Amino acid sequence: MIPLLSRADIKDKKTCVLRVDFNSESNKDLFRLDSSLPTISFLRKKKKNVVLIAHRGRPVPFLSFSGFGHFSKAVTPPFSSDERKKYTLKPFARILSKKIREKVAFLDFSDFDKVRETIEKSKSGIYLLENIRFWKEEEWNDERFAETISSLGDFYVNDAFSVSHRENASVCAITKYLPSYAGLLLEREIEKLNGAMDNPKRPIVFLIGGAKISDKIGMIDFFWRKADFFLFGGGPANTVLSARGVSLGNSLIDEKSFDTIRPYLASLKIKVPQDAVSEDGKILDIGEQTIKEYEEVIMKSKTVVWSGPMGLFEKKKFSRGTRDMWKAVLRLAKKNARAGIIVGGGETIASLSLLITHYKLPKNIFLSTGGSAMLEYLSGKKLPGIEALKTKI
Ligand code: ADP
Ligand code: MG
Repeated sequence: MIPLLSRADIKDKKTCVLRVDFNSESNKDLFRLDSSLPTISFLRKKKKNVVLIAHRGRPVPFLSFSGFGHFSKAVTPPFSSDERKKYTLKPFARILSKKIREKVAFLDFSDFDKVRETIEKSKSGIYLLENIRFWKEEEWNDERFAETISSLGDFYVNDAFSVSHRENASVCAITKYLPSYAGLLLEREIEKLNGAMDNPKRPIVFLIGGAKISDKIGMIDFFWRKADFFLFGGGPANTVLSARGVSLGNSLIDEKSFDTIRPYLASLKIKVPQDAVSEDGKILDIGEQTIKEYEEVIMKSKTVVWSGPMGLFEKKKFSRGTRDMWKAVLRLAKKNARAGIIVGGGETIASLSLLITHYKLPKNIFLSTGGSAMLEYLSGKKLPGIEALKTKI
């Protein structure tokens, strides 16, 4: 059983260390931040202090924990101020503060004792720590680092479904030091994804695109028997074509995924673009014929799982494939109320803005905050961050 915040007895507790995911390519794409608001409000209504831990992108870590209660600024490898600016979480303190109409203190910490002091002195408040991935120990799942972060509160809540497939200190190791619970968002993700994969109606179609090719192609083994079709776009499509011997110039390809995909290359379950939009020798979107073919497959299916945009949708001229896939899944959702559609991934969700600027969709479409995490969870793998919540302390 996963301990849930919604049912936890936290009467005697004062400060929550809350792992969230605000990660997005732009400050305008706030789906993930918005998704964590219910948990933040829940905790504030119960008069808890909230210490938010989050990350942004994948910066090269430049800080290291000395292990004596504070952090030393070891600048290895060199970390430019540009990078620092690019990956800082500071803008999110202001954005969040506006949304919840409450001051959010940004703690640009390198000295943990000071951070703890500030938090302990305040009667009640909400704090956002700087990008946790600035520290090497985050990725190492380092226990002493986790213990230090844990000392900022008296209970821990994981609401970052999208990083729960990673063995990181603020997701896994920290649960050894504090009573730990799944937040409202994590609870909802688990419930919705469990529901979707519990006897899904056939045909089942996976629409797979994007740039994180190995993450996405890596799931094919697990979904192979379940799926009726895999519709490939983006980097995964290029990789399948390239593995079949088609030469694609300098398109985005992951040769390391060739071995994974090889056993399936000849199967009719796999659909790849038959035409494409390209520029400078790079395939950057699926073509018109492909859009038509994929739409037809989608309209005949009863379960759709989508992760990864079909093309470089950030540029208008390469956005049509992705936009039309959104149109297709919306049409399916409206046509058949019993069809189930799950869409996940940072950019995939952001690309919904090609069509509409809100997230109010038919009930049978579930937007997941996880991309790779969602695929891993659906595949039946245990996610380390969710398993860690079961640790008894
Ligand atoms: P998600 O965030 O939804 O999990 P990914 O992170 O795997 O998806 O990939 C998203 C990115 O993939 C987008 O920024 C998009 O521009 C890019 N992309 C999609 N297709 C292509 C392509 N053919 N060539 C280059 N980039 C692509
Ligand atoms: Mg992404």
